[in-house]
Amino acid sequence: MTLLSDRLEASVAHTIAGISNGGLQGETCAPELADGPWAFDLGMPGYGPGASQGDSLPAGSPTQGELPARYREATPQQLSDWIAAAKASLGSRVAVMGHFYQRDEVVQYADFVGDSFQLARAARELPDAEAIVFCGVHFMAETADILTGDDQAVILPNLAAGCSMADMADIDSVEECWAELEALFGSAPDESGRVPVIPVTYMNSSAALKAFCGEHGGIVCTSSNAATVLEWAFERGQRVLFFPDQHLGRNTAKAMGVPLSAMPLWNPARVSGGLSADALRDSRVILWNGFCSVHKRFSVSQIEAARAAHPDVRVIVHPECPMDVVDAADAAGSTDFIVKAIAAAPAGSTFAIGTEINLVQRLAADYPQHEIFCLDSVICPCSTMYRIHPGYLAWVLEELVAGRVVNRITVDERVADGARIALERMLAARPDTTMAA
Ligand code: SF4
Repeated sequence: MTLLSDRLEASVAHTIAGISNGGLQGETCAPELADGPWAFDLGMPGYGPGASQGDSLPAGSPTQGELPARYREATPQQLSDWIAAAKASLGSRVAVMGHFYQRDEVVQYADFVGDSFQLARAARELPDAEAIVFCGVHFMAETADILTGDDQAVILPNLAAGCSMADMADIDSVEECWAELEALFGSAPDESGRVPVIPVTYMNSSAALKAFCGEHGGIVCTSSNAATVLEWAFERGQRVLFFPDQHLGRNTAKAMGVPLSAMPLWNPARVSGGLSADALRDSRVILWNGFCSVHKRFSVSQIEAARAAHPDVRVIVHPECPMDVVDAADAAGSTDFIVKAIAAAPAGSTFAIGTEINLVQRLAADYPQHEIFCLDSVICPCSTMYRIHPGYLAWVLEELVAGRVVNRITVDERVADGARIALERMLAARPDTTMAA
């Protein structure tokens, strides 16, 4: 078993600090990561990237950038002591959720670690928890708020922790697209009862988009059930509008036999998405021009280099990676798929993994019987999730001890109702779904 201190020593934050101090070889994907957590928030308006259209900032909530000096100036040991003391004081009244991609400096305090949907469902199973502190990104906290009770406060320690992919599909752009599709196809079903278009949103999207799907006969999917959800949609619709991640949509539909020629890419920055009426008429899946900046970095040349250096390597990538990367890998699957594949492998296996670096490093520490490394040699964490620093966690927990709820994520009730419909359709499409990105 790897000691926590060893793991923190090997953590992404520690590595970035080492690189920025000139003490370690290597590079990071974004030089500003080395500027430290507080620099992110300078000049940042209330909700940062990932802030969605479907929730409201409760009156009196602080805007980010005002983290008290006590937390900014504290040592790691002080923050650790304060977090531990606050958690001990709050007991079961608080639950701390840590996403798989979260840094170890934060995950060490998590009561639950998992993907976004696992964590939201876990929160729902904790009726005693008055506060759910969600150490992930904004859309994840929204989902947790939708699935938990009104008397449970979901807290995002840093409001600027968003998701760049979720930002790529906003409700206004999707509604404009929908209006154009309705003008072209109408809304009447064909002779087999299938409507012209079914909207499908990835879990990594704002609550407003989930509500849009709920209100327009659509559904939510995760990276592990995307094929099941597309089958559900094809039974009810002639084609699918899939947002925001083009890669998950393309990789999944291609594996189901949908030709690339029937998957046009809708670019919301262009008139009519940059697509002709014929291309839309011939489509089976209209892909939204969105992507994950972390998973987009993986390349076929990285896979070739891994195979050259390690002839027995097994390459597993996340389906948010581009199609050529998924095609060149040995397997592609959700976070949970990757974890299970590694857990089931015989000792001495070698894995090159194409997903977020914090998860890869944690897997390498948890499975020392294997050699596990990230396909990308550049240190590239999810930079928005990286905004959750232990200082923010200490702050929100100590505020709770003082009887104050800060950074609460509240999804408007109408939006939450629509989003819940789309989420429930997903659960009904495959009742045992437990996995997300
Ligand atoms: S890893 Fe990509 S999809 Fe996941 S939260 Fe970060 S930016 Fe969003």
